[in-house]
Amino acid sequence: MGTDYNAVPTVHFKAPEIKFTKLFIDGHFVDSVSGKTFETIDPRTGEAIARVSEGDKEDIDLAVKAARRAFDHGKWPRMSGVERGRIMMKLADLIDENVEELAKLDSLDAGKLFGMGKIIDIPHCASLLRYYAGAADKIHGETLKMAREFQAYTLKEPVGVVGHIIPWNYPSTMFFFKVSPALAAGCTMVIKPAEQTPLSALFYAQLAKQAGIPDGVLNVVTGFGPTAGAALSSHMDVDKISFTGSTEVGRQVMVAAANSNLKTVSLELGGKSPLIIFDDADVDKAVDLACMAIFVNKGEICVAGSRVYVQEGIYDEFVKKSAEKAKSWTVGDPFDPLVAQGPQVDKNQFEKVLKYIDYGKKDGATLLTGGKALGDKGYYIEPTIFTDVKFVQEDMRIAQDEIFGPVMSLMKFKTIEEAIEKANNTRYGLAAGVVTKDIDIANRVSRSIRAGSIWINCYFAFDNDAPFGGFKMSGFGKDMGMDALDKYLKSKTVVTPIYNSPW
Ligand code: ADP
Repeated sequence: MGTDYNAVPTVHFKAPEIKFTKLFIDGHFVDSVSGKTFETIDPRTGEAIARVSEGDKEDIDLAVKAARRAFDHGKWPRMSGVERGRIMMKLADLIDENVEELAKLDSLDAGKLFGMGKIIDIPHCASLLRYYAGAADKIHGETLKMAREFQAYTLKEPVGVVGHIIPWNYPSTMFFFKVSPALAAGCTMVIKPAEQTPLSALFYAQLAKQAGIPDGVLNVVTGFGPTAGAALSSHMDVDKISFTGSTEVGRQVMVAAANSNLKTVSLELGGKSPLIIFDDADVDKAVDLACMAIFVNKGEICVAGSRVYVQEGIYDEFVKKSAEKAKSWTVGDPFDPLVAQGPQVDKNQFEKVLKYIDYGKKDGATLLTGGKALGDKGYYIEPTIFTDVKFVQEDMRIAQDEIFGPVMSLMKFKTIEEAIEKANNTRYGLAAGVVTKDIDIANRVSRSIRAGSIWINCYFAFDNDAPFGGFKMSGFGKDMGMDALDKYLKSKTVVTPIYNSPW
């Protein structure tokens, strides 16, 4: 099977029953105040999977009130870290028990590979919960001697009511990137999943209740960005917003926070990440890595290696082999275990990617392979590679803008200095990759690239313990690692006089 694969749903599987479609506020599933609902769409067909409650400002108000009550008067922020951790472990176990159903929901909603969801995405959510559960009882401040007759200590307190605004490309992983450290810190929260992918978030709300997370601690309001999302980021009683999504919306979230109560904000935004491949690389392995870095999850990954710089000595061989690899990349039903790439998440994204492919052609890049939509229904696009892509900002839109689709821009370079300069010539700074056997080159490139994650001879190598987040217009504030726990804590300094100290 190649890219001429008949890209329509081909696999007969038992569709999961859609059990949860209402807002989850204060421990209960409820209709939205307006009674409105919206369709969530299966990108394999463009048809509706289910209707889900459409939350708006009034629903966000109710959810924030519940979260505020749970924070100001409830048990969650006051119980011991050990006890919070125990409940989070229980939630992780419940996720493990429901892996299959949760993976199906994300595949249906987002067109993600079911096999990958079952083995990687959903188990990773349980693992994130366990990682932060283990940290919940290890949150502590410092003792400060101070000058003269005072001493002080710092308390690490939960930041309060948190609003999490979640994207659609990794509906489960992004949910737990944010929810797990916030729960460990003792925060309460309102989660606004992306309108394209609300189903798994509502399932997690039910599991959270079953695990024993008290009512009001974890609320989920499904709905649209400009209404429910904006109401959350401009709410006067929300203490922090943790956002993952586009740079454009991240800016709006920050403005809303500034114009309301100056809540703190952390933003994980877009990227245009470079992958730099030097002459001494094993070309076959480098081609595999480059294709994986852009085509996995149909290019709907903020860290996708969308700009590939190849040194001139291996460039021609690399071009030939990457075209072959892209042509053999199977596109089709994400429930088919032989398929490597499912449909783009929705019609908007599908059209946006095709528009950028068109820009590439118009701006003078050479279409090496792919470039077309596939099948007569659903949102499938061929893995696409452009060569002769110019890097200078004003030259080509495909070299500068985040496309968020399976489109690789291939460029040639001569020297390490040129590679570094080109790689840094972007407004983004999320991630970068370097492929070389020379440790000095690898070290020099790693130190020179302004990006939050650098992968040497690998790509997409994530770990719970490794902080992830961008530089420049890719945002600020890390997910994962102890850095992420710190985002949900604030430091209070308590000072006391000390009399007749011998020291
Ligand atoms: P993408 O461009 O990848 O679809 P977005 O940045 O539009 O990503 O969406 C990410 C999340 O932000 C979604 O949950 C979406 O509903 C939400 N969102 C969109 N617009 C706004 C807004 N104006 N204020 C707050 N949240 C928003």
